[in-house]
Amino acid sequence: MALLEVRELRAGYDHLPVLQGVSFTVEEGETAVIFGLNGAGKTTTLLTLAGLLRPTGGSVRFLGREVAGKPSHVLAAMGLVLVPEGRRAFPGLSVEQNLLLGAWPARREGRIRETMGKILEYFPPLSQRLSQKAGTLSGGEQQMLAIARALMARPRLLLVDEASLGLSPVMARTVFEVLAAIKGEGPTLLLVEQNVGVLPYAERVIIMEKGVVVFEGVGEEARAVRLRESYLGG
Ligand code: ATP
Repeated sequence: MALLEVRELRAGYDHLPVLQGVSFTVEEGETAVIFGLNGAGKTTTLLTLAGLLRPTGGSVRFLGREVAGKPSHVLAAMGLVLVPEGRRAFPGLSVEQNLLLGAWPARREGRIRETMGKILEYFPPLSQRLSQKAGTLSGGEQQMLAIARALMARPRLLLVDEASLGLSPVMARTVFEVLAAIKGEGPTLLLVEQNVGVLPYAERVIIMEKGVVVFEGVGEEARAVRLRESYLGG
């Protein structure tokens, strides 16, 4: 059984349909990456999967259950958590306070401090800045904080929207490496990216164009995309 199965998903904004029947699968334990040019519908896909935008049609099966249209807090409690584009930490709160807020979907399970300790092992710059206000962190550190905060919810599936946006190539690579390290122990990853630097970490490659998936490949097929990466553009 796939962890996530998206079939003919449709969604949009008011009267603007954006997703025109999006279908793809994510298996447990893999790193899947959605590529596509600006406006292809990548962010809209993640917002819809995370319950922040209501689908107008189609099906989303997560952990074997139909979840299309369920609100984000229900999905987060089930283990489906989004790191939105633009990071969105609470700038006036400390790094530690931001992390503790991320734990609410897993609050019933307790062990919040223990979880935070484990997560911080992956983010040494954050562990040295626990009392610093989030708004004063660098762009790369804020992206780390956004990912670390989402991990506090102990997700089964982590959706990350353009983690590398606005980061230097070196910082983008650091973020990808942290995601790869986390994956060994933690959640399955579904990333949206325009940065082809993520390709070496991808086990499944999904390409979107104008609101539909035009390519989905794993293994050899995904590697072939890496060879043709210039096709993907910047
Ligand atoms: P990008 O990388 O530029 O964010 P994307 O592939 O993530 O591209 P989306 O953000 O999903 O694309 O946008 C798809 C379409 O939906 C675009 O035409 C965009 O203008 C439109 N759109 C996005 N957000 C809204 C909104 N809040 N209201 C109306 N239209 C929107």
